[in-house]
Amino acid sequence: MDLSSDFKELVRSRTEIVSLIGESTTLIPERGGAEYKCLCPFHEDTNPSMRVYPDRQSFRCWVCDEGGDVFTWVMKREALSFPETIRFLAERAHLEMPEQSKHQSEQFARKEELHAVLKWAELQFHECFLKSTEAKDARDYISRRGYNQQTVDEFRLGYHPEDWDWLQRKAKTQFSIDALQQSQLIRKQDDRPGYSDYFVDRVLFPIHDERKRTVAFGGRLIPGHKERGGKYFNSKESPVFHKSRVLYGLPNARDGIRDTKSVLVVEGYADCVACHQFGVRNVVATLGTALTELHCNRLKAFAQKVVMVYDGDDAGQNAAAKAVGMLIGQSVDLRVLTLPEGADPDDYLKTNGTKAFQALVDKAPEAWEFRFNYEVKKYGLDSINSRETVVTEMLQLLAGASDLQGTTREDIILTRLAPRLQLTEGAIRNQLQRIRSASRPQQFQTKPVQEEQPVIEQEERIEVHRRPLTKDDRMECELLEILLTEPERAEQARQEIGVDDFLNPHLRELLQIVYDVVELGEVPSFERVTLEMERNELKGMTVWLADQAREKGIEHKLRENSDGGASILFRQVIDALKWRREVLSHKADFQKQAMSGEGNDALSMLQKAAAFHRKRVQR
Ligand SMILES: [Zn+2]
Repeated sequence: MDLSSDFKELVRSRTEIVSLIGESTTLIPERGGAEYKCLCPFHEDTNPSMRVYPDRQSFRCWVCDEGGDVFTWVMKREALSFPETIRFLAERAHLEMPEQSKHQSEQFARKEELHAVLKWAELQFHECFLKSTEAKDARDYISRRGYNQQTVDEFRLGYHPEDWDWLQRKAKTQFSIDALQQSQLIRKQDDRPGYSDYFVDRVLFPIHDERKRTVAFGGRLIPGHKERGGKYFNSKESPVFHKSRVLYGLPNARDGIRDTKSVLVVEGYADCVACHQFGVRNVVATLGTALTELHCNRLKAFAQKVVMVYDGDDAGQNAAAKAVGMLIGQSVDLRVLTLPEGADPDDYLKTNGTKAFQALVDKAPEAWEFRFNYEVKKYGLDSINSRETVVTEMLQLLAGASDLQGTTREDIILTRLAPRLQLTEGAIRNQLQRIRSASRPQQFQTKPVQEEQPVIEQEERIEVHRRPLTKDDRMECELLEILLTEPERAEQARQEIGVDDFLNPHLRELLQIVYDVVELGEVPSFERVTLEMERNELKGMTVWLADQAREKGIEHKLRENSDGGASILFRQVIDALKWRREVLSHKADFQKQAMSGEGNDALSMLQKAAAFHRKRVQR
């Protein structure tokens, strides 16, 4: 759903930041009410470090750097998407939501239909599980696993019989084949015409989004039944299901997370359900993917502590080490719980009980410490060489987390890490700085950092708009200027130009944000895109691009040179980028073949080169 900027502005103007924040936090007036301070809810704050500014209608925490306007506050505090935030604040201000444009309301209606068909399917599966004679083995299996009736009801467990068009027949009078297919409940047959149901003869775990809407299913094979496609499989992604965003069990865990201010993340829905049944209620599961930053951002809104639970075997430990690398920069108390080898949470709880499990959770090491132990186990710490390797691995981990740079969190980690490596804090700090500046792209380096020079902690400066543009930068800027002017074109751009086609890392970062917003089904307008940005440097560059677009009159050019809706300017920019992709890949091929020196490929190399040059001439 997209809303006009007029309406967003109206909502903004009807929402007073001081009263909004005051609803959930105690505000202390300062400077005669010109400013307020409060405890920051986004980090563990003991000394009020958040300031609220009535004149600028904004807030900012001086410790963790969270900040923004009323929308930012609600998005972060309530873990809502932008459209949900607008709806939330509109309701609060007693404003009626405006009519949407035709395209937007169509998209909205389509998603509503998918939610409806998925909810209906959930009911069919659940009733079949409870009542049907065909579901007897499924029921036996579930009770053998130890799930009681309350759990079956709460998680709405279901069953699809061994019948390849059972669901299609039931749906006949209510839902179209198209809706069933789009929601990934049926799929095209490989060998003959027609469709078959997607989940056949499986116990089904409905997957809900945070608003408790059914978005997908996970299917578990019944032991002893014919195996088709693995023990577990999930719905494919659909317009309403993105596995990098959805966490299984979140609606059920919400209260538990709020009460304990912490959340456990396990690797599958069966374990998640088992934990809940044992009374460990603050548990969610990822769905066949590692915990992503998107997941983590969602969880941060409710929990101060995120505990990732992994098996003690090698696969589990390697997965945990990798996840730590991705998430170490997140401003949340991240921990890794390793279960004794061979045990999953379900086994462990059954054998040892909730108390013992809770004790393991409480003892779970912090993410950096887990990673340290992991590296030490791998390389040892006895010889100079092994110690050097561990130091480098650890510092590379920290250097990779750009969000961490210059934060208190980083200070704390370094202070604790130094003694374990038997180094001074100054020494590892210097080395970290060296690794950081070495891994930064050449063009953004200013002066080389002197070893003894104190490290100035500041946000990485983005230079794109502060120096003459290269030809490559210019092409990329042009596409972004168009997208910031007419964001409706982003969908089309996304189909033709990937983020990897961009060479400049900062412009690429912006393009990625634009595409992420598109993927959410929203229009990546300037306001929407900048709302996704935490770094002010990136915001600065985006403001500059939008200004450029205005100065160049891009809006006018897009309209003037349009050929029945398809703008010539837009086409030219897309084609130029596509051509550059081809040139670069041609060069890379050529180089690779020249390097490998495989003489027998000479003919195909010449043929490829000739084809390339023919295209170039025809351009
Ligand atoms: Zn804070």
